[in-house]
Amino acid sequence: SEALAHAESLIAGIPDFPQPGVLFRDISPLLADAQALRTVVDAVIEPFAGQFDVVAGIEARGFMLAGAVAIAAGVGMAPIRKAGKLPRPAASVSYALEYGTAEIEMSDDLEAGTRVLLVDDILATGGTLRAGQHLLDELGLQLAGTAVLMELVELQGRAVCGPVHSVFRV
Ligand code: 5GP
Repeated sequence: SEALAHAESLIAGIPDFPQPGVLFRDISPLLADAQALRTVVDAVIEPFAGQFDVVAGIEARGFMLAGAVAIAAGVGMAPIRKAGKLPRPAASVSYALEYGTAEIEMSDDLEAGTRVLLVDDILATGGTLRAGQHLLDELGLQLAGTAVLMELVELQGRAVCGPVHSVFRV
């Protein structure tokens, strides 16, 4: 649609950030636009409407999306945080980065079997979303779906994290 095309045009491509050779997709201008934000939030929800009980967002840009998606869908949200930030982590998953490893954690605030929509801003190599899926699994939660604003298709992340609903693909 025209509204989605406009929203996509607000995602800025920033060369050489955070490292030389990387084209960083900055979603801040999209978030700052009321109509674009509403449009992408609705597009994230659309395939999963009525199929999830809560939205989990991955720190930090996933939080921005998850809160908005939760309000629009009439459900709550749960943060997936970098290790060491939560006072009562109930599960943690380590995963490989290009250099070194990362670890994410989640609290035990949701009942086993809760249907969770997992969201993040960008799907790159898929390692982050895969780790988020593992975390939900560790806590006995049910993955209702995985959604991102933008999928960087050539990195083939969906081979790592399985089916993903991506609002935009570049
Ligand atoms: P992956 O684990 O799929 O390689 O990387 C995805 C994670 O890195 C996401 O949490 C995402 O926020 C971040 N990320 C990777 N590339 C970009 C980018 O170009 N723009 C933004 N905003 N985040 C990125």
